[in-house]
Amino acid sequence: MVASFRNSGGTTPREIVAPKNSTSHSPMPDFPTEILNSPAAAEAVRIITELKNAGFEAVLAGGCVRDALLGRTPKDFDVATDATPDSVRDVFGKRNTLAFGESFGVIGVLPPRPETTEHPASNAKESAGKLMPTEVATFRADGSYSDGRRPDSVTYGDAEADALRRDFTINGMFYDVFESRIIDHVGGVDDLAKGHLRTIGKAIQRFEEDKLRMLRAVRFATTLGFSIEHKTFAAIQNHASDISVVSGERIGAEMRRVMTAPAVDFGLETLVDTGLSLHIWPQLQTMNWTEFSTAIQAAKRPSFEVAMAIALFHLPGDSMHTLRLIFDDWKLSVAERRAIEAALTHAETITQCDGLAWSKLQPILVDADAPTIVGTARALAPKSRGVARAGRALSGAPNELDPPPLVTGADLISSGMRPGPEFKAILQSIRDDQLDGKLNSREEALKRIPTGDE
Ligand code: ATP
Ligand code: MG
Repeated sequence: MVASFRNSGGTTPREIVAPKNSTSHSPMPDFPTEILNSPAAAEAVRIITELKNAGFEAVLAGGCVRDALLGRTPKDFDVATDATPDSVRDVFGKRNTLAFGESFGVIGVLPPRPETTEHPASNAKESAGKLMPTEVATFRADGSYSDGRRPDSVTYGDAEADALRRDFTINGMFYDVFESRIIDHVGGVDDLAKGHLRTIGKAIQRFEEDKLRMLRAVRFATTLGFSIEHKTFAAIQNHASDISVVSGERIGAEMRRVMTAPAVDFGLETLVDTGLSLHIWPQLQTMNWTEFSTAIQAAKRPSFEVAMAIALFHLPGDSMHTLRLIFDDWKLSVAERRAIEAALTHAETITQCDGLAWSKLQPILVDADAPTIVGTARALAPKSRGVARAGRALSGAPNELDPPPLVTGADLISSGMRPGPEFKAILQSIRDDQLDGKLNSREEALKRIPTGDE
């Protein structure tokens, strides 16, 4: 990724606004304008155009510029402007905007819709999955920080001030779509080319202001495959214990990104090396890194749940207990916890299921969490015959995997039985024999139901 960016010279250099006092002359990379064709980007360009037509400055900002220059598809396209939040709402009409983070100067601009509705907010929800509102942030400088997370106040300013309040140099660039010009006040182009993650300004101060940035640093290094510049790294080491002021939800959100990155093993090791893991996942200190790396690479782009299960399998101690702690700390969803638990419980059975009766294997494979279970098993024992068998069964015909039962509870009730433990045991034994091919018709199965005089 980085290399292709670095080698993208050879095209006509465009103007770069160099950081003040900077003598560096990075070759100007090409902004891949085809990225602007996606519906979300086209929507951001529409918003920029309208703001410009109203006499304001407006540019693409932050993560989307970074990702575009790396040849990655940006997750979303944020706009930065010198229009105040009130002016933004005037330009688009109040009904077409949402007060996202008005105290920080962020307005959500809704995509155009054929008819206006009474409730713009509910409309925004409906359009989720289609076009989300675009974040339009007024250029600002952040005031002092007293809670370790958010500025106490903000003042509106110019593009340069806005670049300087951002976290990392690679996140501090703007792109002017009309002039096809990257605006880089912070040396982001250079660091992007080198694959370096560096804070804007003094690392210690930037992490003192907002402790979450320390974990964001590890997340960006992991997802982008970047190295953390040494002063930035040392500052995280010095302030790692402060991460405990960050909410569990925010930690969980960043950890989901780390766990699903291809370089998750590097990411987790970096958490340990920086000292952050002591405060967010202390058990990681005892990870068996070699075996974990082998397993996670074998998993091939695992889901968050699979990656968590693989990690937990490679930690000594009671993995269910560790999972419960993480579930509470990171505020995982019940569904996430259930899937990880299912993998911890059944993945090893899958790796050894080659000779297992189908009636014992099938209930695991029809579990809603079977993909997580089998995905974890595949990472633990990629070449095992058990995993191959489970994989074949899962990709086979649904009717073969889970055939309709030959008899049901209703059949037992009509033969005079009452629901209870025995009732359940009989149904189960008939079902097992059906799955194992010992009962092949409803008639045979019905004969297994005890009659009233037995
Ligand atoms: P992604 O959307 O892929 O997570 P991103 O860079 O867009 O990456 P966001 O969290 O969406 O990250 O934030 C958008 C931009 O806002 C960032 O690129 C950065 O410039 C700025 N930013 C976000 N969080 C912080 C923070 N905690 N401190 C300073 N600047 C921040
Ligand atoms: Mg973003």
